[in-house]
Amino acid sequence: MIHTDIVIIGAGAVGTAIARELSKYKVDVVVVDKRDDVGGDASKSNSSIICTGYDCPPGSLETAICRSSRMLADQTVKELEIPFNVCGAIMPAINEEQMNILKDIYDDAYKNEIFDVDVVSGKQLLDMEPELNPETIGGLYIPREAVIDNFLFVVAQAENAAENGVQFLLRNEVKDIQVENGKVKAVITDKETIQTKYVINAAGLFCDAIAEMVGECDFVVKPRKGQFFILDKNTNCQINHIIYPIPTPTSRGKLLLKTIHGNILCGPTAEDLEDKEDHSVTAEELAGIETDCKKLVPNINFSDAITQFAGLRPNRIPAGFHIGFGKTEGYFGISGVRSTGISCSLGISRYVVKKLQEGGVKLERNFDFNPYRKAIPRFSEATDEERDALIQKDPKYARVICRCETVTEGEIVEALHRPVPPTTLDGIKRRLRAGMGRCQGGFCSPKVIDIIARELNVPPESVDKNVPGSYILTGISRQEGGDHHA
Ligand SMILES: Cc1cc2nc3c(=O)[nH]c(=O)nc-3n(C[C@H](O)[C@H](O)[C@H](O)COP(=O)(O)OP(=O)(O)OC[C@H]3O[C@@H](n4cnc5c(N)ncnc54)[C@H](O)[C@@H]3O)c2cc1C
Repeated sequence: MIHTDIVIIGAGAVGTAIARELSKYKVDVVVVDKRDDVGGDASKSNSSIICTGYDCPPGSLETAICRSSRMLADQTVKELEIPFNVCGAIMPAINEEQMNILKDIYDDAYKNEIFDVDVVSGKQLLDMEPELNPETIGGLYIPREAVIDNFLFVVAQAENAAENGVQFLLRNEVKDIQVENGKVKAVITDKETIQTKYVINAAGLFCDAIAEMVGECDFVVKPRKGQFFILDKNTNCQINHIIYPIPTPTSRGKLLLKTIHGNILCGPTAEDLEDKEDHSVTAEELAGIETDCKKLVPNINFSDAITQFAGLRPNRIPAGFHIGFGKTEGYFGISGVRSTGISCSLGISRYVVKKLQEGGVKLERNFDFNPYRKAIPRFSEATDEERDALIQKDPKYARVICRCETVTEGEIVEALHRPVPPTTLDGIKRRLRAGMGRCQGGFCSPKVIDIIARELNVPPESVDKNVPGSYILTGISRQEGGDHHA
């Protein structure tokens, strides 16, 4: 049995940000997640925008948190060496009706104290983004909207939290929370019993099921699916800003942006579902992305698409951020973090710690906290001199495993020996981009599996793609010239 002070359920953007924030204090923290890896569910499949909060509901907790989170992001990406691009966003209009909608958005931005949002002319926008619809007559410029590597954002915080003493228990699905005399006693997973004084529910889409375990669920969470296209980096129609459509009353609409790695991302859709595991993409919705994005950037070339994916927003009904202690002593709930959770996670972590303190949790500052984390040196981004130095230090940096993204064996080995190491093919892909290029892992996957197996000392056929049971190899097949994995 494990004993701790605080259990955080969920290792997505919200759970890991809270874990890192709590690692600044002298308190024992365990993060549990049912998945093989940190990175969450919604947190790994989204638009990757760090928003300023200009279009959040005025006067809401979400707005206050989003605004302060944007400032925290500037500091955090430096401390943790997370790829981040403050590219700015534009919202173009092609007729007077749309210009009128922009006036309301501009007014809300000022109510939200985002004073750097500006109204610009059609010419200015076309100078900024020459591929924009030539009918653009004007629009908004939101200069501090930014794009992040959303997966490394979570990984980096988890690694730093682990370096500062937080324990991560992955592949542990929370099945129950034991309550005695109205007080949290233990978190029961399918593998462990964790005795704890406090439990923080950061389970995203499943936070209603966790709240139910302590009888505190007066809401439901439904998935709102968002599908995306990713285009090849070399597509000829390039953009440099986040390009937002004019939102509708029900959706922010489908945007275009250049990801932190230089691919064009188009989407997302907004589809209300019942099934919390449905990550499928559909021809009909993808066709809708194509139509809508071409209204913004007519020359965007969808024949350069290299993949599609879908993420599920945790849509709380009734909506709104709900963050605080419940009636059960020791239970702290977080729900309603739907469409801005990457952006808001840093502010949420500060808010949660303050609420814990106000609720009587003794949190003594740990001044030995180390806020820094070094990124894995990226061979593809290194100068010739840096490449020579890497190879001198470790000849594995001379062996390119993923040819599309130039990822070396040295980088993969380093990732596998980090504080919260990946164990799956997708864990490597998301940290290093091996398998994210044009061939989508066709060449490098078998080699990556061999390296994972060798470094973690496990049989290759036990290496999963992403979730438990998603194995790729079935066993050994005897062939001429020796045994081969099949
Ligand atoms: C299409 C789309 C586009 C988006 N775009 C943006 C954007 O550009 N910017 C932005 O800021 N936000 C965006 N979001 C929203 C953002 O992705 C989410 O708000 C955020 O990721 C929620 O983070 P989380 O940590 O709460 O949840 P998650 O990332 O879902 O993490 C929850 C974790 O809890 C774990 N868990 C659940 N149940 C259990 C259990 N019983 N036991 C153990 N573990 C459990 C899960 O495995 C998961 O790892 C978008 C979302 C989508 C889907």
